[in-house]
Amino acid sequence: MRRRNLADLEPGALDERRVLVRVDYNVPLTSDGAVADPTRIRATLPTLRFILERGGRPVLLSHLGRPKGKVVPSLSLAPVAPVLAGELGVPVRFVPSTDTEQALEASRDLRNGEVLLLENTRFLPGETANDPALAERFARLGDLFVNDAFGSTHRAHASVVGVTGYLRPAVAGFLVQRELEALSDLRQARRGPFVVILGGAKIADKIGLLEVFLARADALLIGGAMANTFLSATGVGMGRSLVEEDSVTLAAKFLATGGNRLHLPVDLVVADPGAANADQSMIVPVDAVPAELAALDIGPETRDDFGTIVREAATVFWNGPMGLFETPGFETGTVALARATADCTAAGGFTVIGGGDSASAIRKAGLSEAVSHVSTGGGASLEYLAEGTLPGIEALDPAEGSEA
Ligand code: ADP
Ligand code: MG
Repeated sequence: MRRRNLADLEPGALDERRVLVRVDYNVPLTSDGAVADPTRIRATLPTLRFILERGGRPVLLSHLGRPKGKVVPSLSLAPVAPVLAGELGVPVRFVPSTDTEQALEASRDLRNGEVLLLENTRFLPGETANDPALAERFARLGDLFVNDAFGSTHRAHASVVGVTGYLRPAVAGFLVQRELEALSDLRQARRGPFVVILGGAKIADKIGLLEVFLARADALLIGGAMANTFLSATGVGMGRSLVEEDSVTLAAKFLATGGNRLHLPVDLVVADPGAANADQSMIVPVDAVPAELAALDIGPETRDDFGTIVREAATVFWNGPMGLFETPGFETGTVALARATADCTAAGGFTVIGGGDSASAIRKAGLSEAVSHVSTGGGASLEYLAEGTLPGIEALDPAEGSEA
């Protein structure tokens, strides 16, 4: 079912209203507590500008890290306020609480052209428990609700789902809207060949994706540590490579059903996993991984094979790096596929990158702008692709004329 978004509200609906916006400012912090990367703050600017331009007064709720229901000073959202003020060019007031009289008063004191940022919602145990009493207190902070926290939308938490039980209208912000459009296009993937690249570490977390895409993709390219588990399922020795023993049986099942649509690496870059030194790495065929070494990247022949398939695709989805890309020398496979994906895009392909590490890999390769869409939500984008909806989306107002 389609959901109502900010632009669907009737004219004047925001004027002099307190607009409670759930954002995802779960930003990385430096060791001295400054915002290390403002990407997630910038991603909310279209929504906030739209609200401000229409006379609305944004009251922002977000979580940061995992304080587990307690006040953890190093996880305060305070450092976000000046960064947001700089990006937005308007005053941003910060109040160090969320469900208090002080926060409520601050929301009522807000003037047009100002923003209020409240403290980390996860300082309260009721947030992740989706406590209705807390949700109701959150709801008092606004006159309507906007969810623009795509990265948190797979969580049935009080500030994402519970709050909508007490506050309407409840609509999607533009970041959420844009993500849903790109990911639902991808889920339907009408244009073939549809190629899916899966890598990274955890099969257990990605079973849903594997199932969905094994049924729909024309080619499923497996790399990264995920390929180690699949290769192990074919019976070859993987030395000291990261292999998920618990998932080997499952990988064998996928191999049996995937047929020739499932592509595994034919060669690998191996090295001592303790040193992970690229100078002492070697390239080996997949059936010749030395017992004392680990596979840390896909090899050159695999790079070329996978690259060719990606360049000829009409639709590409990529989740999970092809190797230990954070370590210099083992990013080659990931970068090569990022280039192939960019080439596919330039030739008219529709290409989407999902997953936290995958997004950071494509940024590192300097190719974020050269693909169709980089999803800001790690777990949320993968769950949406697998399930077709998310708890925080279900909780929003249905769009006019959409079927249940
Ligand atoms: P995403 O966040 O995009 O969903 P994952 O979290 O599943 O991706 O996986 C990313 C991690 O997998 C990275 O830290 C990367 O270094 C690691 N990785 C990928 N390939 C290998 C490998 N061959 N050996 C060890 N780690 C790997
Ligand atoms: Mg990750």
